[in-house]
This record gives sequence, structure tokens and C-alpha cells, in this order.
Amino acid sequence: MAAEIRIFPCLNDNYGYLIHDPATKATASIDAPEAAPVIATLEKEGWKLTDILVTHHHGDHVGGVAELKQKYKCRVVAPNDKAKAIADVDLRVKEGDTVKVGTLSARVLETPGHTLDHISYMFDAEKALFAADTLFSIGCGRVFEGTYPMMWESLLKLRALPDDTRLYCGHEYTAANVKFALGIEPDNAALKTRADEVARQRAANQPTIPTLLGEEKTANVFLRADEPSVAAHLGMSGKSAADVFGEIRERKNRS
Ligand code: ZN
Ligand code: FE
Repeated sequence: MAAEIRIFPCLNDNYGYLIHDPATKATASIDAPEAAPVIATLEKEGWKLTDILVTHHHGDHVGGVAELKQKYKCRVVAPNDKAKAIADVDLRVKEGDTVKVGTLSARVLETPGHTLDHISYMFDAEKALFAADTLFSIGCGRVFEGTYPMMWESLLKLRALPDDTRLYCGHEYTAANVKFALGIEPDNAALKTRADEVARQRAANQPTIPTLLGEEKTANVFLRADEPSVAAHLGMSGKSAADVFGEIRERKNRS
């Protein structure tokens, strides 16, 4: 039986996600921005929370963990953050570890940059990637704790996943990301196609997530820092991809 995934808005622009295993009825919340929408979605589906898979220590990703753990006695899985900023953790995981949710299985990918502890969860059989604040649709997270080369390596790790992987990211930022990306790649046909789709989705009040990783590879300028045309547009021909990525990220910070 195929896994079921639910997406629902939390806080201002976060997304909450539940992934459910029909075979065992195990259900995981990917992060917990706040408890109420997670509980509401569980009750609507008749599911019981068994696990929370935390991606990083920011408050808009862990704010609901304590309340949910108290209510459901669920297991909390989290990265090995040195500062132990994430509380109530039952299992700390690292690169290459496998996390089971019932019979479902997620591979842990360390994707530092936004924070040093940031991890992503790849459900290979379901072709579902939960990348939180590392990779957004047509964007990427701000580099708060890491360096640009570190974040670029993390993006390359995600870019290496199959094209038919669905990307579930932490925030609904796609419309602003599209506007910014068109400024750097005005002639990118894949980006223009995505821009039309996003405009339609937002007008209909629909999430722009999930998106296909294969489409992100062609349309997301942050995954394209090693494209000669992108470097040329920025006057950075011959510079390293990490440098080009850093320049794009800084321009986005100022936009
Ligand atoms: Zn964050
Ligand atoms: Fe966030």
C-alpha cells in the first residue's frame, strides 16, 4: 500500500506534513511548526502520531514538538545538533542513517548551510524528499550558520536525487522566488513555465508544493550556479560554482 502524504499550512508561511503508512498505521509529522494544525489534520484523517522527524532547530520547525510529544507519546527524531537546541529528542540521526516510520523508510541526508544541524529526509521508495529550509521551490534557504560552499554542497547532494522525486519544502515562498529568479534568468523556458504555473496555483489559493526535482533542476537558479549562462549573466564567468551561488544568495538577501 502506498504511503499517504498530507500538506497543510502552519504559522504564516510554513508547511506542515504528515506521512502515513497504511500497512502499520504509523504516521510521522515532518517538523512541527505548531501543534494545532498537526492535531487537526491527524483527527480529520483518523491517524495517530507515532513519530516527529525534525529537520533543524529553528522555532518555526520545532514549536509544536513538546505539545505533540506530550499528547501522543510519539518518538522524536532529530539531527545531532551540537548545541542540543532541540528538546524532547528520542533519537539523534546523522548522514546515512535510516529512519523507519512503520514499514516506510527515510534516508537521512545532512544538508548544512541554513543551519549547521540541518538534515533532509529522503523516502526513496516513495520518491519524497523533505528538505525543509535547504531547498525551496525556485529558491533555497538563507545561509545563517554555514558558508556558501557548504550550502552549495548540500544543494548538490539534493540535486543528485532522481528527477521524479517530489520536493516537499518548509515554506511557501515560491512566488517571490520566481520573481527573483526571472531577474537572473529571464530567458529560462523552464522557469517561465513554472512562473505561469505558480501564478495559476496562487490565484486559486493552492500550494505550489510539492514540485518535481527534475523541474527544479532546470528552473531553480540556486541549483544552476554551475551553469555557464548563469555565471555569465552575473559577470562571473570562470568563477567557482560556490562563488556564483554565494552571489545569487546575497542578491536574494537584498531583494
Ligand atoms: Zn529555518
Ligand atoms: Fe523555516
